[in-house]
Amino acid sequence: MASIEIDGLVKEYQNRQGRRTRVLDGIDLSISGETFVSIVGPSGSGKTTLLNIVSGIETLSGGSVRLRAGDRDATVGYVFQDPRLLPWRTVTQNLKFVQRDRSGWEERARHYLDLVGLAHLGDRYPAQLSGGQQQRIGIARAFSVEPDILLMDEPFSHLDAMTSRSLREHLERIWLESQRTVMFVTHDVTEAVQLSDRIIVLAPGGRIHETIEVDLSRPR
Ligand code: ADP
Ligand code: ADP
Repeated sequence: MASIEIDGLVKEYQNRQGRRTRVLDGIDLSISGETFVSIVGPSGSGKTTLLNIVSGIETLSGGSVRLRAGDRDATVGYVFQDPRLLPWRTVTQNLKFVQRDRSGWEERARHYLDLVGLAHLGDRYPAQLSGGQQQRIGIARAFSVEPDILLMDEPFSHLDAMTSRSLREHLERIWLESQRTVMFVTHDVTEAVQLSDRIIVLAPGGRIHETIEVDLSRPR
């Protein structure tokens, strides 16, 4: 079982004149087990920065972040806003490329492509797919590595409303099936309510404004 423990996280950027701007101002967050947490908040409130720090892409200025799975460090997968598929590889080769453990990768690739409804497109190249299909491949690719923790930064934001709605359904299905710890950044509250167990609302200035526990028994 994976956990994310964030204590007093502070992030500051320094401009060329040496002036510091604080973009995350003391974030405390504890997430454990098979939990889907959405981070919402206005543009500039630090959602992406928070995700980048949890993933290790960016450094922190203060506080701590601990990612654990049992008695070891947790593995982390990241789904970006655009799917960032390698254009010169087929869909299946894109999934193969990211595997840490090559044994059994073909079954995993087929399984996760099947969960997003695209098992029949494994031999296509990304340019032959629609934007929504490419993003589904990006999600299948991240899940296929089977990381303990999955981070997603507005994976549907470039897509039209119909496509993003159908993608939410695919994501819900793949998540229910694989049961990972997820941190999902979105500015779309409907999306957050549909998908999450918990919603963290960030306020301008990078503080947690509110935490909402979503009642899982209600129809979504
Ligand atoms: P959100 O994802 O909520 O829109 P971001 O995390 O992207 O917010 O950005 C939070 C704040 O940090 C913004 O004011 C942004 O301009 C600033 N910021 C982000 N990255 C950098 C950077 N590399 N250098 C300086 N400021 C940055
Ligand atoms: P392999 O894993 O088989 O060694 P490579 O990484 O060498 O694959 O790349 C396979 C092919 O893709 C090569 O022909 C290479 O020139 C091409 N390629 C590599 N990087 C890019 C890129 N950024 N854009 C387009 N084609 C690329």
